[in-house]
Amino acid sequence: MNTNRRDFLKLMAAGAATALAPVPAQARPPKALAPGAVGILYDATLCIGCKACEVACKSANQMPMDHDSGLEQVHGVRGVWDAPDDLNSQTMSKIKLLATGDGGQGGFSFIKRACMHCVDPNCVSACPVSALTKDPTTGIVRYNPDACIGCRYCQLACPFNVPKFEYDKPFPKIVKCQLCAERVADGDIPACCAACPTGACLFGPVTDLLGEGHRRLAFQPGESQDYPLHRLGSGDQRTARVTGYVPSIYGETETGGTQQLLMAGVPFAQLGLPPLGNDSRARLSETIQHTLYQGMVAPALLFGGLVYTVFRNAREGCEDPAPPADANTEPQEDHHD
Ligand code: SF4
Ligand code: SF4
Ligand code: SF4
Repeated sequence: MNTNRRDFLKLMAAGAATALAPVPAQARPPKALAPGAVGILYDATLCIGCKACEVACKSANQMPMDHDSGLEQVHGVRGVWDAPDDLNSQTMSKIKLLATGDGGQGGFSFIKRACMHCVDPNCVSACPVSALTKDPTTGIVRYNPDACIGCRYCQLACPFNVPKFEYDKPFPKIVKCQLCAERVADGDIPACCAACPTGACLFGPVTDLLGEGHRRLAFQPGESQDYPLHRLGSGDQRTARVTGYVPSIYGETETGGTQQLLMAGVPFAQLGLPPLGNDSRARLSETIQHTLYQGMVAPALLFGGLVYTVFRNAREGCEDPAPPADANTEPQEDHHD
C-alpha cells in the first residue's frame, strides 16, 4: 500500500481529532484526610517570635546550626548565631517576621514555615521512586533517604517550596519536616509544639484542630479567651487577649487541604503564602497525564510524527543533488573565426 504525504497527514489529523475529542478524563477522586490524621495549628496572633520551636526542632532532629546566612553576615561574624533567613538544608522549621503595613501586631506578623503535610501531596505524586510517602493512618508525609535518587522532582512539585536539597554534601538528601513522626509514634508530640510557650504551635488530630480554629474565628478582638497549650485536649491552657483574625484557616481547603493549619491577623498573601485553589495539584497533574495517555493515542501520534520526520529527512538526504541551473542548456560550440 502506498502512503503519500497527504494520506499521512490525513491520518495524523484523524488521530489528533480522536485524541482531543471530549472523552471523559480519567480524573481520580480527591484524596481524603487519613483516618488518624494529626497536624499542627499555628496561630500567628499568639506567636511572640521567641523561636523556641526552631531550636527544639533542630535539637530533636539533630540538625546543625546555620552560620551561612542572616545576622552573621550582617554583622561580619561567624559561629555566633543560628540565624537562617528561611527554610534550608539545615533548617526544617522557620519562624519568619514580615512587615504587614498597618495590619497585624503593630505592622508586622510572624509566620511559621515548614512542610504543610498536604492531604494530597504533590511531592509524593511527583517522586518517581516513592521516596516520599504519605502515612495511611497519620497522614504524615515521610521521606526515605535510602530510596531517594536525588532527582529533586519533589522540590519542583511542592507548591510551598518546602523540600530543600543538601547541595554541599557528597551524598545529598532532601530535608523537610516529618512532623516528628517517631515522637508521635511513641505517643509524644512534635518538639516545636512541646517547646512553644504561648500555644501558637498546637498539636492534635486535624479535625479537632479545625474545630479549635473555627472556635477562634468567632472570637472578638479585645476579648480575653482561653487558648490550649502544646497538645489539644491536654488541659494545659493560658488566657490571652484576642487581637483578631482574618476569617479563614489557611490549609483547610488550599490544594485539597493540609495537615499544618495556619491562622493570622493579616491576609495570608502578605505572609508569603501562595493563593491556591481547592483542588490538589497532584490530582490535576495526574488527571492531565491520564487523559493524555488514555489509549496511548497521543504518544502514538507523537511517535508517528517523529518517524515520519526522520523518514522524510533521510529520503531528502539521499536524493541526487539538483542539477545546476544551466545543465539543460545546449553546449555552446566554439566558433573560431
Ligand atoms: S508542603 Fe510540599 S513537601 Fe510538604 S507535603 Fe506538601 S507538597 Fe510535600
Ligand atoms: S514537627 Fe518536628 S520536624 Fe516538624 S517543624 Fe515541628 S519540630 Fe520540626
Ligand atoms: S515557640 Fe511559639 S511563640 Fe516562640 S516562635 Fe515558635 S511558635 Fe512563636
